[in-house]
Amino acid sequence: MKSKVYFVSIKDSDDLQVVNQKLKLLLDKSKVLAPIQKENKVAVKVHFGEEGNTGFVGPEHLRVICDEISVRGGSAFLSDANTLYRGRRLNSEDHLRIAYEHGFTKEITGVDVVIPDDNKKENTATVEINQRFIKSAKVARIFVDADALIAVSHFKGHVLTGFGGALKNVGMGCATRGGKLAQHCDVAPVVHSDRCIGCGECEIICPVAAIHLEEKKSVVDSSKCIGCASCLAVCPTMAMFIDFAAGDKVQDKMVEYSLAVLKDKKNKAGFINFAVKINKECDCWGAENPRISPDVGILASSDPVGIDKASLDLVNKVCNKDIFKTVHPDQDGIKQLRYAQEIGLGSLAYELVEL
Ligand code: SF4
Ligand code: SF4
Repeated sequence: MKSKVYFVSIKDSDDLQVVNQKLKLLLDKSKVLAPIQKENKVAVKVHFGEEGNTGFVGPEHLRVICDEISVRGGSAFLSDANTLYRGRRLNSEDHLRIAYEHGFTKEITGVDVVIPDDNKKENTATVEINQRFIKSAKVARIFVDADALIAVSHFKGHVLTGFGGALKNVGMGCATRGGKLAQHCDVAPVVHSDRCIGCGECEIICPVAAIHLEEKKSVVDSSKCIGCASCLAVCPTMAMFIDFAAGDKVQDKMVEYSLAVLKDKKNKAGFINFAVKINKECDCWGAENPRISPDVGILASSDPVGIDKASLDLVNKVCNKDIFKTVHPDQDGIKQLRYAQEIGLGSLAYELVEL
């Protein structure tokens, strides 16, 4: 059955007020917030952006969404889980600080930011899903315990998954650091020695000392590597490459994690994708993240597969090509959507309702 995906177009020239008016229209017409009932505790899953990143969905848009949740009697909070790679979102304290620096304060959004501390055992929920790769998933308990989940996702490129939208935000984003590790652990980078200038940045950033320099060339010990991709992000010459065959499993595992997060959220979850400020890499990327597409619009749906497929189609249409395959030629992001449909997360077939 086709799922409904609602859409408002956004132009690069639209200012904040215009974008928020369109967002409000989308929330009203799409009924994406309809699952929220009085006194529901609503987790709004966002990405606060790595230091130096400007692509993340801004706090002023979150204000509109959280206000609408409040109108429906729900009590919203903004949340994200900590990262595996070293950066400003590695632990709860730093993560909260960068969220505030990026404007996600109560004054602007009207709600609190809650970042669960992975070091506390009670903050992890183990969700049994018994899927092909993941039998039991480690999810930040805050998302499992919430009465409803609204995933607000920035649709953009991604080095491991081709593109990232709702499924990436939910599957990878709601996992604890242990859960992220379980999704990444088959991926180890390889070094293209002709490109390596021996700067040592990868060695410094590697969290598990899996890299050392030999004769001024980087060497990766794949038995130690946890596949966090930090070395890819830091390498100035793109000398680090991912083992793409293993990368396929990341997409599968990420999708299985989405299933875990949404397991008890039947009719209690909504998805909003911002296909604007579309960059080559994800919001974990601090700098050197070029735009690859004009702004397209904002989408809303109760189907995480349909909304990501519609976002992909709309971006590719405006670019006149498969832009994500162009910028990440070794990744095939459509695999995540096909597998998500296969395990019952939603439908690739959708009806686009343009407002
Ligand atoms: S070698 Fe592995 S663990 Fe180390 S930074 Fe690179 S991807 Fe991460
Ligand atoms: S960061 Fe890149 S260029 Fe620098 S040592 Fe590592 S692989 Fe070589």
